[in-house]
Amino acid sequence: MEFKILGTGSATPQLDRNPSAFFLTIDQVLFLIDCGEGTQFRILEHKIKVSRLKYIMISHLHGDHYFGLVGLISSLNLNKRKDPLTIIGPKGLNEILILQFKYSNTILNFELSFIETQSDTFNLVLDTETFKIESFPLKHRVPCTGFLITKKASKRKVIRESLPENFPLPYYKLLKDGLDVTNELTGEVFLNKNHTVDGEPEKKIAYCSDTIFDTGIVEYIKNADLVYHEATFLDEHEQRAQQTFHSTASQAAQIANLANAKQLIIGHYSSRYKTTDSHLQEANIHFDAVNLSKEGDNYII
Ligand SMILES: [Zn+2]
Ligand SMILES: [Zn+2]
Repeated sequence: MEFKILGTGSATPQLDRNPSAFFLTIDQVLFLIDCGEGTQFRILEHKIKVSRLKYIMISHLHGDHYFGLVGLISSLNLNKRKDPLTIIGPKGLNEILILQFKYSNTILNFELSFIETQSDTFNLVLDTETFKIESFPLKHRVPCTGFLITKKASKRKVIRESLPENFPLPYYKLLKDGLDVTNELTGEVFLNKNHTVDGEPEKKIAYCSDTIFDTGIVEYIKNADLVYHEATFLDEHEQRAQQTFHSTASQAAQIANLANAKQLIIGHYSSRYKTTDSHLQEANIHFDAVNLSKEGDNYII
């Protein structure tokens, strides 16, 4: 899994920070998580191949998380996209998109489907052979969800050198599934433990968008390999965080600590802070493996 950061700012535009947008890649499938204004330009800047983009997940309908969406979809259309695209987001988003396209007389030349998230419960949104997406409720000023993206454990890996040259192909599949195999013609037995090794283990990324400090989310993101959590404010503005339903850097770190996360990325910085050194310092009091989000940074999980 690869997690790429395109935006680290919050609320209103800042010259040196873009609003929220993140790309996640699982086995060549590309996911965009939130799509703040100007995300298209970041896509060009980082030379991201949007032809591989299959899913766009939007956490909530504050502009700094989705104002780039209509522009991006329009450009995909102008660039003659044919492949289907799925938008996963809150109630109302589909209506907004339909209205925008209606009044711009835009007819999409690809299939755009929409999955509505539920902002009050933990939900399975999508389940495929290789990955699943779940959403969980966040406490913010408007309905908001986080996303838990799990890359499922891969099947067992077959040690080809340990098998005879003419080993029948269907038997490979059985070995990958963890089964012992008996050759029907010769009666020879191939024990799974002698001919396979473990595949890649399951990996999890939790995306915690805008939220007030809420330990209720810990159960959903337990043992995640990577947690992204907003850290709009510093301790000195904790009250402001509470009033606006946002978190501080140290609160984000407490969540990562309680969740037993392997690493934490913080971002969504308020424009009042010109540097983010203090975010790191305050977070490190509660959690060691903290990374400050920076535009363009890539994390391989
Ligand atoms: Zn925001
Ligand atoms: Zn918000």
